[in-house]
Amino acid sequence: MSPQRARPPCLVWPCRQLQPCPEHPRQPWLGAGRRMPPGWPQTVARIRARDRGCCRVCGGPGAVVDHIQRGGPEADWNLQLLCQPCSDAKTEAEALAARRARLGW
Ligand SMILES: [Zn+2]
Ligand SMILES: [Zn+2]
Repeated sequence: MSPQRARPPCLVWPCRQLQPCPEHPRQPWLGAGRRMPPGWPQTVARIRARDRGCCRVCGGPGAVVDHIQRGGPEADWNLQLLCQPCSDAKTEAEALAARRARLGW
C-alpha cells in the first residue's frame, strides 16, 4: 500500500477532509445516494407543475416532493410539493409519530 495513493475527498459537502474522514464516517446505507424509483425526475417535474411550484402547506416556493402517506405508493395522489421548512416539519412529525407508535403511546 503506497502512502502516495490519493485518497478521495469526504462525501459530505462542504467538508474538505479526505476519506476516511474522522468527522463523517461512511454510511453504507447512504451509498451512492438514496435510491429513487425509475422515472423519478419526471415525477418530480409533473408534481411541481401540478402544484404550480408552490408548497401545498404554506403556499411558499416549493422545494421537495413529499410522500403524503409515508411508505405509500409512488402515485401522483400520494405526492405533494412542499417547501423545505414544511417538509422538515412533516418529517419530524412523522418521526415522532413513529416513535410514539413503537412505544405504544
Ligand atoms: Zn467529512
Ligand atoms: Zn411550506
